[in-house]
Amino acid sequence: MIETQLLSGTAVASTVKEEVAERVSVLNGRGKSVGLATVLVGEDPASEVYVRNKRRTAEKLGIASIHHQLAADTPQSEVDDLIVRLNQDPAVDGILVQLPLPDGLDGERAVNLIDPAKDADGLHPTNLGKLILGQPGLTPCTPTGVMRILDHYGIGVSGKHAVVIGRSFLVGRPLAMLLNQKGTDATVTMAHSRTPDLAALSRTADIVVAAVGVAKLVGPDFVKPGATVIDVGINRTEDGLVGDADFEALQGIAGAITPVPKGVGPMTVAMLMSNTASAAEAAIT
Ligand code: NAD
Repeated sequence: MIETQLLSGTAVASTVKEEVAERVSVLNGRGKSVGLATVLVGEDPASEVYVRNKRRTAEKLGIASIHHQLAADTPQSEVDDLIVRLNQDPAVDGILVQLPLPDGLDGERAVNLIDPAKDADGLHPTNLGKLILGQPGLTPCTPTGVMRILDHYGIGVSGKHAVVIGRSFLVGRPLAMLLNQKGTDATVTMAHSRTPDLAALSRTADIVVAAVGVAKLVGPDFVKPGATVIDVGINRTEDGLVGDADFEALQGIAGAITPVPKGVGPMTVAMLMSNTASAAEAAIT
Protein backbone atom coordinates (compact mmCIF):
# COMPACT_ATOMS: atom_id res chain seq x y z
CA MET A 1 0.00 0.00 0.00
CA ILE A 2 1.38 3.40 -0.98
CA GLU A 3 1.44 6.07 1.70
CA THR A 4 0.36 9.23 -0.08
CA GLN A 5 2.42 12.27 0.89
CA LEU A 6 0.53 15.51 1.49
CA LEU A 7 2.10 18.44 -0.34
CA SER A 8 1.08 21.42 1.77
CA GLY A 9 0.95 24.62 -0.25
CA THR A 10 0.32 26.55 2.95
CA ALA A 11 3.65 25.38 4.39
CA VAL A 12 5.62 26.18 1.22
CA ALA A 13 3.86 29.55 0.89
CA SER A 14 4.95 30.43 4.46
CA THR A 15 8.56 29.77 3.51
CA VAL A 16 8.25 31.90 0.36
CA LYS A 17 6.62 34.74 2.31
CA GLU A 18 9.38 34.67 4.95
CA GLU A 19 11.93 34.97 2.14
CA VAL A 20 10.02 37.87 0.59
CA ALA A 21 9.80 39.70 3.94
CA GLU A 22 13.59 39.34 4.24
CA ARG A 23 14.15 40.59 0.68
CA VAL A 24 11.87 43.57 1.35
CA SER A 25 13.79 44.42 4.50
CA VAL A 26 17.09 44.29 2.58
CA LEU A 27 15.58 46.64 -0.04
CA ASN A 28 14.31 48.99 2.69
CA GLY A 29 17.84 48.98 4.14
CA ARG A 30 19.06 50.22 0.77
CA GLY A 31 16.51 53.03 0.87
CA LYS A 32 14.04 51.34 -1.48
CA SER A 33 10.41 50.96 -0.44
CA VAL A 34 8.39 48.23 -2.17
CA GLY A 35 4.86 48.85 -3.47
CA LEU A 36 2.19 46.67 -5.06
CA ALA A 37 -0.66 48.46 -6.84
CA THR A 38 -3.94 46.58 -7.13
CA VAL A 39 -6.66 47.64 -9.55
CA LEU A 40 -10.15 46.29 -8.92
CA VAL A 41 -12.94 47.29 -11.27
CA GLY A 42 -16.54 46.58 -10.25
CA GLU A 43 -17.86 44.62 -7.29
CA ASP A 44 -17.44 40.95 -8.13
CA PRO A 45 -17.46 39.28 -4.66
CA ALA A 46 -14.84 36.63 -5.54
CA SER A 47 -12.49 39.27 -7.00
CA GLU A 48 -12.97 41.42 -3.88
CA VAL A 49 -11.92 38.51 -1.65
CA TYR A 50 -8.87 37.74 -3.83
CA VAL A 51 -7.72 41.38 -3.84
CA ARG A 52 -8.28 41.82 -0.08
CA ASN A 53 -6.18 38.71 0.54
CA LYS A 54 -3.38 39.97 -1.72
CA ARG A 55 -3.39 43.41 -0.06
CA ARG A 56 -3.27 41.95 3.44
CA THR A 57 -0.44 39.59 2.54
CA ALA A 58 1.53 42.45 0.97
CA GLU A 59 1.20 44.60 4.07
CA LYS A 60 2.26 41.75 6.36
CA LEU A 61 5.46 41.40 4.33
CA GLY A 62 6.29 45.11 4.42
CA ILE A 63 5.06 45.78 0.87
CA ALA A 64 2.97 48.96 0.59
CA SER A 65 -0.47 48.18 -0.80
CA ILE A 66 -1.62 50.90 -3.19
CA HIS A 67 -5.23 50.11 -4.03
CA HIS A 68 -7.45 51.56 -6.76
CA GLN A 69 -11.13 50.64 -6.73
CA LEU A 70 -13.04 51.70 -9.84
CA ALA A 71 -16.77 51.52 -10.58
CA ALA A 72 -17.99 48.82 -12.97
CA ASP A 73 -19.05 51.47 -15.49
CA THR A 74 -15.62 53.13 -15.61
CA PRO A 75 -14.70 53.85 -19.26
CA GLN A 76 -11.78 51.91 -20.73
CA SER A 77 -9.85 55.17 -21.22
CA GLU A 78 -9.84 55.77 -17.44
CA VAL A 79 -8.58 52.26 -16.75
CA ASP A 80 -5.88 52.79 -19.37
CA ASP A 81 -4.87 56.17 -17.89
CA LEU A 82 -4.60 54.69 -14.41
CA ILE A 83 -2.27 51.92 -15.61
CA VAL A 84 -0.08 54.43 -17.46
CA ARG A 85 0.15 56.53 -14.26
CA LEU A 86 1.06 53.47 -12.17
CA ASN A 87 3.73 52.55 -14.74
CA GLN A 88 5.33 55.96 -14.16
CA ASP A 89 4.99 56.00 -10.36
CA PRO A 90 8.33 55.14 -8.70
CA ALA A 91 6.50 54.03 -5.51
CA VAL A 92 4.84 51.24 -7.52
CA ASP A 93 7.00 48.17 -8.22
CA GLY A 94 4.26 45.69 -9.10
CA ILE A 95 0.88 46.22 -10.76
CA LEU A 96 -1.96 43.76 -10.56
CA VAL A 97 -5.18 44.23 -12.52
CA GLN A 98 -7.70 41.78 -11.07
CA LEU A 99 -9.31 39.83 -13.89
CA PRO A 100 -11.88 39.36 -15.24
CA LEU A 101 -12.89 42.98 -15.81
CA PRO A 102 -16.63 43.73 -15.97
CA ASP A 103 -18.43 43.39 -19.31
CA GLY A 104 -17.54 46.15 -21.73
CA LEU A 105 -13.94 46.45 -20.51
CA ASP A 106 -10.99 44.77 -22.18
CA GLY A 107 -8.84 42.89 -19.65
CA GLU A 108 -6.28 41.85 -22.25
CA ARG A 109 -5.77 45.48 -23.26
CA ALA A 110 -5.30 46.46 -19.60
CA VAL A 111 -2.68 43.75 -19.01
CA ASN A 112 -0.86 44.67 -22.24
CA LEU A 113 -0.55 48.26 -21.03
CA ILE A 114 1.31 47.28 -17.84
CA ASP A 115 5.05 47.95 -17.96
CA PRO A 116 6.50 44.40 -18.29
CA ALA A 117 9.03 45.32 -15.55
CA LYS A 118 6.07 45.88 -13.16
CA ASP A 119 3.98 42.93 -14.34
CA ALA A 120 3.55 41.23 -10.94
CA ASP A 121 1.22 38.58 -12.40
CA GLY A 122 3.74 37.65 -15.10
CA LEU A 123 1.02 37.62 -17.75
CA HIS A 124 2.22 40.41 -20.06
CA PRO A 125 3.03 39.13 -23.57
CA THR A 126 6.64 40.26 -23.12
CA ASN A 127 7.04 38.12 -20.02
CA LEU A 128 5.22 35.14 -21.54
CA GLY A 129 7.48 35.53 -24.59
CA LYS A 130 10.57 35.54 -22.39
CA LEU A 131 9.30 32.36 -20.75
CA ILE A 132 9.13 30.64 -24.13
CA LEU A 133 12.59 31.94 -25.03
CA GLY A 134 14.03 30.80 -21.68
CA GLN A 135 15.01 34.37 -20.81
CA PRO A 136 14.74 35.73 -17.26
CA GLY A 137 11.52 37.62 -16.57
CA LEU A 138 8.53 37.70 -14.26
CA THR A 139 6.71 34.38 -14.57
CA PRO A 140 3.01 33.64 -13.98
CA CYS A 141 2.25 33.15 -10.29
CA THR A 142 0.25 29.91 -10.22
CA PRO A 143 2.58 27.87 -12.47
CA THR A 144 5.63 29.24 -10.65
CA GLY A 145 3.99 28.25 -7.37
CA VAL A 146 3.52 24.70 -8.66
CA MET A 147 7.21 24.48 -9.56
CA ARG A 148 8.14 25.74 -6.11
CA ILE A 149 6.00 23.05 -4.42
CA LEU A 150 7.74 20.32 -6.47
CA ASP A 151 11.14 21.77 -5.63
CA HIS A 152 10.35 22.19 -1.92
CA TYR A 153 9.33 18.55 -1.52
CA GLY A 154 12.27 17.30 -3.58
CA ILE A 155 10.07 15.80 -6.29
CA GLY A 156 12.46 15.34 -9.19
CA VAL A 157 11.20 16.58 -12.51
CA SER A 158 14.13 15.89 -14.84
CA GLY A 159 13.40 13.03 -17.21
CA LYS A 160 9.90 12.56 -15.81
CA HIS A 161 6.76 12.53 -17.89
CA ALA A 162 4.36 15.28 -16.85
CA VAL A 163 0.82 15.42 -18.17
CA VAL A 164 -0.65 18.91 -17.76
CA ILE A 165 -4.43 18.85 -18.14
CA GLY A 166 -5.69 22.29 -19.19
CA ARG A 167 -4.04 24.66 -21.67
CA SER A 168 -5.04 28.14 -20.44
CA PHE A 169 -2.54 30.99 -20.79
CA LEU A 170 -2.97 31.55 -17.04
CA VAL A 171 -1.95 28.08 -15.83
CA GLY A 172 -1.57 25.06 -18.12
CA ARG A 173 0.39 26.54 -21.01
CA PRO A 174 3.02 28.45 -18.99
CA LEU A 175 3.35 25.55 -16.56
CA ALA A 176 4.13 23.21 -19.46
CA MET A 177 6.86 25.69 -20.49
CA LEU A 178 8.34 25.80 -16.98
CA LEU A 179 8.32 22.01 -16.66
CA ASN A 180 10.17 21.40 -19.91
CA GLN A 181 12.61 24.31 -19.67
CA LYS A 182 16.26 23.46 -20.15
CA GLY A 183 17.62 22.52 -16.74
CA THR A 184 14.22 21.35 -15.51
CA ASP A 185 13.79 18.85 -18.28
CA ALA A 186 10.47 17.11 -17.85
CA THR A 187 8.88 15.61 -20.93
CA VAL A 188 5.52 17.31 -21.08
CA THR A 189 2.23 16.36 -22.65
CA MET A 190 -0.42 19.07 -22.69
CA ALA A 191 -3.94 17.70 -22.57
CA HIS A 192 -7.23 19.55 -22.95
CA SER A 193 -10.95 19.13 -23.53
CA ARG A 194 -10.42 17.50 -26.93
CA THR A 195 -7.78 15.00 -25.85
CA PRO A 196 -9.09 11.47 -26.50
CA ASP A 197 -8.86 8.85 -23.77
CA LEU A 198 -7.57 11.32 -21.22
CA ALA A 199 -7.54 8.82 -18.34
CA ALA A 200 -5.24 6.41 -20.22
CA LEU A 201 -2.91 9.26 -21.19
CA SER A 202 -2.84 10.60 -17.66
CA ARG A 203 -1.97 7.13 -16.33
CA THR A 204 1.30 7.30 -18.27
CA ALA A 205 2.41 10.33 -16.22
CA ASP A 206 4.88 10.51 -13.36
CA ILE A 207 3.42 13.93 -12.56
CA VAL A 208 -0.21 14.81 -13.27
CA VAL A 209 -1.24 18.46 -13.09
CA ALA A 210 -4.96 19.22 -13.21
CA ALA A 211 -5.82 22.81 -14.18
CA VAL A 212 -9.26 22.32 -15.63
CA GLY A 213 -12.12 23.49 -13.43
CA VAL A 214 -14.02 20.15 -13.34
CA ALA A 215 -14.56 18.85 -9.82
CA LYS A 216 -12.87 15.51 -9.08
CA LEU A 217 -12.07 14.82 -12.76
CA VAL A 218 -8.80 13.12 -11.86
CA GLY A 219 -9.76 9.91 -10.09
CA PRO A 220 -7.97 6.56 -9.58
CA ASP A 221 -8.32 5.71 -13.29
CA PHE A 222 -6.15 8.79 -14.11
CA VAL A 223 -3.22 8.07 -11.81
CA LYS A 224 -0.41 5.55 -12.05
CA PRO A 225 0.46 4.16 -8.59
CA GLY A 226 3.08 6.39 -7.00
CA ALA A 227 2.60 9.35 -9.36
CA THR A 228 2.53 12.92 -8.06
CA VAL A 229 -0.76 14.80 -8.43
CA ILE A 230 -0.82 18.59 -8.43
CA ASP A 231 -4.34 19.93 -8.19
CA VAL A 232 -4.74 23.52 -9.39
CA GLY A 233 -8.53 23.43 -9.73
CA ILE A 234 -10.85 25.37 -7.49
CA ASN A 235 -14.49 24.33 -7.78
CA ARG A 236 -17.31 25.57 -5.59
CA THR A 237 -19.71 22.65 -5.05
CA GLU A 238 -22.46 21.69 -2.60
CA ASP A 239 -19.74 19.88 -0.64
CA GLY A 240 -17.71 23.11 -0.42
CA LEU A 241 -14.45 23.89 -2.20
CA VAL A 242 -13.03 20.92 -4.11
CA GLY A 243 -10.22 20.49 -6.58
CA ASP A 244 -9.99 18.83 -9.99
CA ALA A 245 -8.60 15.70 -8.34
CA ASP A 246 -10.51 13.27 -6.14
CA PHE A 247 -8.30 13.75 -3.08
CA GLU A 248 -9.87 11.00 -0.95
CA ALA A 249 -10.05 8.39 -3.72
CA LEU A 250 -6.36 8.97 -4.58
CA GLN A 251 -5.10 8.20 -1.08
CA GLY A 252 -3.02 5.03 -1.31
CA ILE A 253 -2.62 5.43 -5.09
CA ALA A 254 -0.86 8.78 -5.64
CA GLY A 255 2.68 9.03 -4.30
CA ALA A 256 2.02 12.64 -3.34
CA ILE A 257 -0.85 15.10 -3.76
CA THR A 258 -1.72 18.74 -3.11
CA PRO A 259 -4.98 19.33 -1.23
CA VAL A 260 -7.70 21.84 -2.10
CA PRO A 261 -7.86 24.20 -0.30
CA LYS A 262 -4.36 24.79 1.17
CA GLY A 263 -2.55 23.49 -1.88
CA VAL A 264 -1.68 25.53 -4.95
CA GLY A 265 -3.98 28.45 -3.96
CA PRO A 266 -1.75 29.94 -1.24
CA MET A 267 1.25 29.62 -3.57
CA THR A 268 -0.33 31.93 -6.13
CA VAL A 269 -0.45 34.79 -3.64
CA ALA A 270 3.03 34.02 -2.30
CA MET A 271 4.53 34.09 -5.81
CA LEU A 272 2.78 37.41 -6.52
CA MET A 273 4.67 38.84 -3.55
CA SER A 274 7.89 37.24 -4.75
CA ASN A 275 7.42 38.76 -8.22
CA THR A 276 6.82 42.19 -6.64
CA ALA A 277 10.06 41.86 -4.67
CA SER A 278 11.90 40.79 -7.85
CA ALA A 279 10.53 43.83 -9.70
CA ALA A 280 11.71 46.11 -6.87
CA GLU A 281 15.16 44.49 -6.84
CA ALA A 282 15.45 44.97 -10.61
CA ALA A 283 14.36 48.61 -10.27
CA ILE A 284 17.48 49.52 -8.26
CA THR A 285 20.07 47.41 -10.02
P1 NAD B 1 -9.72 27.82 -18.16
O1 NAD B 1 -11.19 27.62 -18.16
O2 NAD B 1 -9.13 29.04 -18.79
O3 NAD B 1 -9.02 26.57 -18.84
C1 NAD B 1 -9.45 25.27 -18.58
C2 NAD B 1 -8.71 24.29 -19.46
O4 NAD B 1 -9.19 22.98 -19.16
C3 NAD B 1 -8.93 24.49 -20.95
O5 NAD B 1 -7.67 24.46 -21.59
C4 NAD B 1 -9.78 23.33 -21.41
O6 NAD B 1 -9.38 22.83 -22.68
C5 NAD B 1 -9.47 22.28 -20.36
N1 NAD B 1 -10.64 21.43 -20.12
C6 NAD B 1 -11.90 21.79 -19.87
N2 NAD B 1 -12.68 20.71 -19.67
C7 NAD B 1 -11.89 19.63 -19.79
C8 NAD B 1 -12.08 18.23 -19.67
N3 NAD B 1 -13.27 17.72 -19.39
N4 NAD B 1 -11.02 17.43 -19.86
C9 NAD B 1 -9.80 17.95 -20.13
N5 NAD B 1 -9.54 19.24 -20.24
C10 NAD B 1 -10.57 20.08 -20.08
O7 NAD B 1 -9.30 27.70 -16.63
P2 NAD B 1 -7.97 28.18 -15.84
O8 NAD B 1 -7.99 29.65 -15.65
O9 NAD B 1 -6.75 27.54 -16.40
O10 NAD B 1 -8.26 27.51 -14.42
C11 NAD B 1 -8.37 26.10 -14.29
C12 NAD B 1 -8.77 25.78 -12.87
O11 NAD B 1 -7.75 26.24 -12.00
C13 NAD B 1 -10.05 26.47 -12.40
O12 NAD B 1 -10.71 25.62 -11.49
C14 NAD B 1 -9.54 27.70 -11.68
O13 NAD B 1 -10.43 28.13 -10.68
C15 NAD B 1 -8.28 27.13 -11.06
N6 NAD B 1 -7.25 28.14 -10.78
C16 NAD B 1 -6.66 28.06 -9.57
C17 NAD B 1 -5.65 28.94 -9.24
C18 NAD B 1 -5.00 28.79 -7.91
O14 NAD B 1 -4.41 29.74 -7.44
N7 NAD B 1 -5.08 27.63 -7.29
C19 NAD B 1 -5.24 29.92 -10.15
C20 NAD B 1 -5.85 29.96 -11.40
C21 NAD B 1 -6.84 29.05 -11.72
